[in-house]
Amino acid sequence: MDRNRFENWLKNIYETQDEEISCTECFDLVSRFVELEILGQDAEAKLPQLKQHLNQCRACRDEYEVLRDLRRLEEKGGMPSLADLQNSIQ
Ligand SMILES: [Zn+2]
Repeated sequence: MDRNRFENWLKNIYETQDEEISCTECFDLVSRFVELEILGQDAEAKLPQLKQHLNQCRACRDEYEVLRDLRRLEEKGGMPSLADLQNSIQ
């Protein structure tokens, strides 16, 4: 690896870390992420920071899974019942 490439490589690592998102940002983006998935788009490619955060943060992953399950239920037709909602949240 020559020096320029090495510096670029380092820069990439630091820039990646700068792009890490907070739970608040994650919360704002997660419904979009789910929406992309429902539309059959590559949500991970479009929102890689969000995916990274979900891998690291248990609370946000739970949030994501609940939202995703609700959206899937909606797609199947019929809103979830109260019992379904309570099951998702637990
Ligand atoms: Zn989080």
